[in-house]
Amino acid sequence: MRVIKQKPMTLGERLYIFEAIRGLWTTLKHAARGLFCYDSLPTISYPEGQPEVRNTYRAKHRLMLRPDGTPRCVACGMCAAACPAHCIFIEATQSDDPRIEKRVMRFDIDHLTCVFCGLCVEACPVDALRMDTKVISLEHRTRDEFVSSLFDLTNWNPADYPDDKQSQMAPGGTLNKQALETWGMEVK
Ligand code: SF4
Ligand code: SF4
Repeated sequence: MRVIKQKPMTLGERLYIFEAIRGLWTTLKHAARGLFCYDSLPTISYPEGQPEVRNTYRAKHRLMLRPDGTPRCVACGMCAAACPAHCIFIEATQSDDPRIEKRVMRFDIDHLTCVFCGLCVEACPVDALRMDTKVISLEHRTRDEFVSSLFDLTNWNPADYPDDKQSQMAPGGTLNKQALETWGMEVK
């Protein structure tokens, strides 16, 4: 057993008034810093300010795009089958491209139900789904707004993923022209 000896209080500490003033002074210093030197505070104005996270953090989803701007998703349903929260809703239709059997017509993710486990990303056989958006807090006014649609999931900017080759092949990316030529695709 470890015994910690208490240091006896000095006369000033036993009078309490000086310690109370010292505590008040510390409180006032922090209050003044918040009022006049707000930017120097080690805090962020959440939710307007967001914490910086790595792109390996499991954040809001996005659907990857082919060089012609169509979703890479082939509507196989593997992600929906793997999802433990049953919050992915997919509807497929026939693809116009003879090389691809199906394309996705509806792709909704209910982010109120999602537990951000990442199993859907792991299950995808064509690397069509990722959780690297760094968007880790979602604020909306209605429950419906938490459901991310196909438009929302495909509405991302390649400039936000400068080091990712796949993202740069999408429309607006630095490798898009090259990828269109390689894949023999036209912009849709
Ligand atoms: S992260 Fe997990 S819970 Fe969320 S959609 Fe993907 S599989 Fe479902
Ligand atoms: S697993 Fe991938 S390709 Fe299959 S439906 Fe999901 S996102 Fe689309």
